Order: sequence, then structure tokens, then C-alpha cells
Amino acid sequence: MAIFTRGSVEHVKDAIDMVELVGARIHLRRVGTRHVGLCPFHDERTPSFSVNAEHGLYYCFGCGASGDAISFVRETEGLAFAEAIEHLADRYGVELEREEEDPRAEEDRRRRDRLMRLLDRTATFYARYLWDSAEARAARDHLAARGLDEQVLRAFRVGYAPSAWNRVLLAGQRDGYAPEEMVAAGVAQTGRRGGYFDRFRARITFPLADARGRVLGFGARAVRDSQKPKYLNSSENELYRKGRHLFGIDRARAPAARAGRVIVVEGYTDVLALHGAGLDESVAIMGTALTPEQLVELGRAATTVLMALDADASGQEAMLRAARAATERGMELRVVALPEGSDPAELVAADGAPAFERLLEGALSVPEFEARRVLDAADLGTAHGRDRALERLRPLVAATPQRSVVRDELVRLVTDRLEVPASYVTPGTASEVSRGGPSTEPVGGRDRGAAAEARLPRPSPSPVERAERAFLAMCVGQPRLGRELLERVGEDDLSERLRPVRAHLVDHLDDPLAALPEDPDEAALITEVAMLAESEPSSEPVLQLSFLQLELRRVDRQLRSAAQEREFERQRLLLEERERTRAQVAELMGEAR
Ligand SMILES: [Zn+2]
Repeated sequence: MAIFTRGSVEHVKDAIDMVELVGARIHLRRVGTRHVGLCPFHDERTPSFSVNAEHGLYYCFGCGASGDAISFVRETEGLAFAEAIEHLADRYGVELEREEEDPRAEEDRRRRDRLMRLLDRTATFYARYLWDSAEARAARDHLAARGLDEQVLRAFRVGYAPSAWNRVLLAGQRDGYAPEEMVAAGVAQTGRRGGYFDRFRARITFPLADARGRVLGFGARAVRDSQKPKYLNSSENELYRKGRHLFGIDRARAPAARAGRVIVVEGYTDVLALHGAGLDESVAIMGTALTPEQLVELGRAATTVLMALDADASGQEAMLRAARAATERGMELRVVALPEGSDPAELVAADGAPAFERLLEGALSVPEFEARRVLDAADLGTAHGRDRALERLRPLVAATPQRSVVRDELVRLVTDRLEVPASYVTPGTASEVSRGGPSTEPVGGRDRGAAAEARLPRPSPSPVERAERAFLAMCVGQPRLGRELLERVGEDDLSERLRPVRAHLVDHLDDPLAALPEDPDEAALITEVAMLAESEPSSEPVLQLSFLQLELRRVDRQLRSAAQEREFERQRLLLEERERTRAQVAELMGEAR
């Protein structure tokens, strides 16, 4: 369902200055009617990224990244469509109109907005108190002693909660908030004998923001050793839920999208230290084992997740479970081996960023990391010790996908170190593994593992499938050109799942939701495409570009097969076709020919 009215989305799109928008991120040079620069989506020395202001398009001749202002904001900021629209509306000062909501939902939203404003003001209050008050001197010293950069602390809005019982409460009331609201937002609480008081007192505060930078709660650390507990978070409430947050995600999201990786550390100071050292793609899970919600959020930031955690704290089972769930989502989880007893903050302070970067480069797949730990701890001098190690290693091997490089490498590692044949570690069949008793049970405890995975949304489609869906949705949104392009896309050129969708659209482009097929999967996909067309309006040039990209991908695919089959004449024709298609892209982008 569309959140904003189509008209107001169009207003936002009209207001966008594509060259200004892209130019704020990369340096653009004017060439004829186009602007060119170094691509923000891949590493390059000579510019192949081009912007067409007239059509509001971008295209990279190097990596094929393409789209309009909205996809540019989505990709570079890691935002969903509606969030990108809001971002652009803010930037260009356009008022967005919401589609009519039911009154209950509207009331809930208004209340949430109000509580979030309260949290934001409170974050500002704490931050000012940290830097300006005499009382916070010990806190400032504590942070400075850990080598944390003032600029980074200010950017993360780290603050200090005064020791008085009601400073925040009074400030909130002055701003027109009722004490109940302050409790609901998690900054105040009720006493045993009634009455209200500030939840955080005499503590360093860390705002916990969502991916868009909206403060939803606080984590707070004691300054004095006598204070208990050492860490105190917002209590669970309508905005803040334990285990969902990633500290620093708002600031790490864009850098993570650029770097293609996100670094996960344990605590607040680790994140602050890494950002201070230029590793801006770092977030913290704050003491919990990685939760499914956090994994989803990480997956939105980048496909490679580097876990720089205290290995013992997270535990083998939880790690392997997370790694499996990550694989299902098309992500890759890797473990950074930290020297024993040290955390990233200390490592960066002692050895600098390059040394830490080297640790990141040596990150291992989760099963390999665990296997190395087992091998290092095993008594390899005795047959008994080697058998015990084998028992612990088999489930690790079983947890890797069959016929994968990860498994091959793992098997090689184990057979080399234990000097046993590969048949000792690779199960013949899956059932053999589970018959082996508790020690060879697939790791994680079935029920818990299954429950954790069931809560995850369905694995996201591959990038190719996403591009094809977007193309089909644009055909629905721009039926005039869409009809022609649907015919031109060959049936076999789409992923198998999307072929029936194309076939349906060819017959029902004007009303795709009419006469839906019986097959529930097909019907669901068609509905999804139709809704996408409704909620993410595009334009004819964007559709044209998306079509040409599918064409380029098809030609490349056919070229590969022609090369394998040594069909030289076909190769020659395909190369010509590729040149023609590229020329069409260049023309669409306004390149003078
Ligand atoms: Zn590129």
C-alpha cells in the first residue's frame, strides 16, 4: 500500500536536482549534456559514472549500477523506498501528503512521533550536559582515558545523565510532556510508592537510534565502580525493544553500503573507537547474541558481515545458527579472530587502524573459525584426543553446505591436522549425522534453531530477480512503453519464477490483478509486482534503462555460452549486439555520438 499520495511523490520527484543530489556525494564534471564522475558503487580511477539531468537518471558503464534519484538515495543511504522519499522530501523542502490512514493508526503514529521528539530532546539535553557541566568531569575523563575522539563522541551524541532525580523529568514537563509519556518513552520511571523520577542518573548515555537516526532509547554506563548495574538500558516499551538495536547503524549504514561490509563489535566504545579510526562501517550488538532482527538490519546494510566479537561470549551454537540464517539470506558471516582478552577499542588504540584492518582481512568463515578453535584446544598427540576432536568437528562440517568451497576447505583443514582420511569427517548421508547421538546432532538444538529461523522473513530474492521484478513493475506503471518492452523481452530471458508473471502481464497489463492464476505462488508474485508498480512510481526513461540492462545481461550470458561452445560466428554477432545495446544506453544517458 502506498504511504504517500501519488501526487505528492510526483512533487518530490519534480523538485529533485539530480546533479546537485549526486554531486553532493561525488565530484561531477560536465561533458556535453551529461555529467560524469567516479562511480560511488565500485572502485575506479577513471570516471564511468554518468548522470543525465534531463531524465533524472544515472548509469555506470563500469559496474552497471543505474536508476533514478530515488534508487540513488536508496542505494547510497541504504533506505527503503518510503524512507528515500521522505529523505528527498526533506532535502528539497516538499510537503508529503499521506494516504488516508485509519484513525487508530494515525493516532498511534502521532503518539510515536511525539515520543520520538521527546527522546531526541533528551539526547540533546544529555549531550550538552556531558560537555558543559562540572558534574560530568569524571565522565569526560573516563571517555578521554579510553582514547575516544571528542568529534566522534559529539557525532554519536554521547551524553551524561545528571545525578539529580528529576532533571529530565522537569525539562520534559516544561516542554509539555506528561510524566506518563516520559515513562512510555523510557526516560522516567515510577517509584514503588508512586511518583516519578529519571531513569538514568549519573551515567554516560548512548542514544540508541534506528537506521534513520531516530533515537528510540538509551544505553547508559555507570561512571563509578560502586554504581550497579554497570550498564542500564531503556526498559522495554513501545519504541524500544531489547535485542533489536545495532548501536551506530544510523552512522554506519551509508559507509557499509559503500564498503560492501559491516563490522559487528560488542560494545559502545568499540564502535566509537573504530569510527574514530576511520572504520565507519562498524556497529555494536551490545552484549546480546546476534538476534534475527539484528541480522535482517545488517543484511540491509551490506552482504558481508564481519563479526569482531569476544568469541567465548557469543558461543559456538549461536554463531553457527546465525551463520546459517545469514547464508539463507544471501549474506556471508565471517569471524575476525581477536587476540585473547582484547577488544577492538584497545586494539585500535594500541596498534592503529591498519593493524585492525589486517585482522579483518584474515576473517574466517564461521565453521572454519570454530574448527580452528577445536583443533587448537585438542590433544592431537593421542588417538583418544584426536577422536574427541573428530567428534566435535563432524557437526561443524555437517553444518556447511554440501559441495561448497567452504566445506572443501574445512575438510582439508581437518584431515591435514588430524591426519585422517576425508571419509572420517564427511557424513555419507544426512541421516548418518543425526544418528550419531548428542555430540553429532546438528548444532544449535533443533527447536531453538528452527524457531529462530522461522521468525526470519523469507530469504530475499537474488539481485537479478530483484532487477527483473522492478522491470516488470515499471512495465505496469508505464503501460505505453511497458507493453512494447514486455514483448521484446524474450520469455526465456527472465528468471524461471518470473516467466509466468511476464506471460500474465502480456495479457493483463491494464489490470494485472484481474483474472489471477490459480497457482498461489504465481498469484502472489503478480500481486507483489502490481503493488510495487503502485507504491514505487517510475518514469519511461528509467524503464527504458532497466530494459537495456536486462538486455546487456542476456547478451553477456549468451556470450559466455557461445564462448564455451566455441561458436565463433555467434560470438561475433553477440559482440555486435552488445555494442549496439551499449550505444543505446549511452544515447539514453545523453552521450553525444
Ligand atoms: Zn560503477
